[in-house]
Amino acid sequence: MVKFLDLQGQYRSMAAEMDSAIRDVIESASFIGGPQIRAFEEAFAAYQGAQHCVGVANGTDALEIALEALDLAHGSEVIVPANSFIASSEAVTRAGLQVVFVDNDDNYTISVEAARRALSPRTSAIIAVHLYGQPANMDELVPLARERGIAIIEDAAQAHGAEWRGQRVGALGDIGTFSFYPGKNLGAYGDAGAIVTQHASLADRCRMVANHGRRDKYDHLFEGRNSRLDTLQAAVLGVKLSHLDEWTSRRQEVARVYDAELGGIQDLVLPSRHPAARHVYHLYVVRTARREALQTFLSCRGIQTGVHYPIALPKLEAYRHLGAWDPSWRANTWDATLLSLPIGDHMTTADARAVSEVIREFFTS
Ligand SMILES: *Cc1c(COP(=O)(O)O)cnc(C)c1O
Repeated sequence: MVKFLDLQGQYRSMAAEMDSAIRDVIESASFIGGPQIRAFEEAFAAYQGAQHCVGVANGTDALEIALEALDLAHGSEVIVPANSFIASSEAVTRAGLQVVFVDNDDNYTISVEAARRALSPRTSAIIAVHLYGQPANMDELVPLARERGIAIIEDAAQAHGAEWRGQRVGALGDIGTFSFYPGKNLGAYGDAGAIVTQHASLADRCRMVANHGRRDKYDHLFEGRNSRLDTLQAAVLGVKLSHLDEWTSRRQEVARVYDAELGGIQDLVLPSRHPAARHVYHLYVVRTARREALQTFLSCRGIQTGVHYPIALPKLEAYRHLGAWDPSWRANTWDATLLSLPIGDHMTTADARAVSEVIREFFTS
């Protein structure tokens, strides 16, 4: 049995430490705004190489709040890759902006060429999604945005600890957002998220938006919302952050085994990695025309897999009105062939070899 995710096993490996951190919060009864929040924000900012971190309620809110804080022209266009989770585009619409979908590149991140072609005088920002744990091509995206005077938002929901040319993601553009959804590389025990940036003014603005536009208790400068990171989640995340490097190494080792054992199979495309990227493998995604059959074969052998994502964003009912679906795009045909193999801190090298062997058997039988 190889699970796709094993949060119960992860908890067992650090139960005493976690129970004590959670008990501290409950005993103090500082459920909102407790000291664990600042402590985690500071630790996570340092971890990502950012000056500032603002904890928020989830990764979708993080994107929405970041977009609001950037104060982009109402109704202006924001470029979003077609293969991502809906939050990447949903936040754009919710912030009163216009989604413009573009194709992905062969590394599954936003195609810089497609983004360049999609630029218009109304473009105000690009969302660089560091999909599956690999950074988008920041060498080209950052100069492109600077040249055009538009913003870069990094959606790093899947990329805690990922690097581009040795620098951690999140603060490479103007502002970056993270999700701590339980299944992410760094996950809370519920919903949680964060925003990072090098700019103090943007961080202040985000903090106010996420907390009713308040400067002080009952002193509200504008209408914001309630999207605070709560103390219990901050305590959980603080404990988990100290294990993240070790868990990322595990993911990278599993990916290394898959790369080595699955090479050379016809009709199986392995994930490619940009030489400048430190990939943290939130997901290890392959492509095959026989996706359904392979998934069933693996499932019969007790190996769990996933599909990210089964419907490309422009094809969703939610976006039909945009008419952005283009059958020639890579991302718009991938949804029938993508398959996410199991990967995570719960897997041993032997597990990765066993999964590889079953996949080889499928393709040779
Ligand atoms: C998970 C995810 C989000 C949203 O995060 P939530 O915490 O679930 O709101 C945004 N973007 C991407 C790419 C994600 O994978």
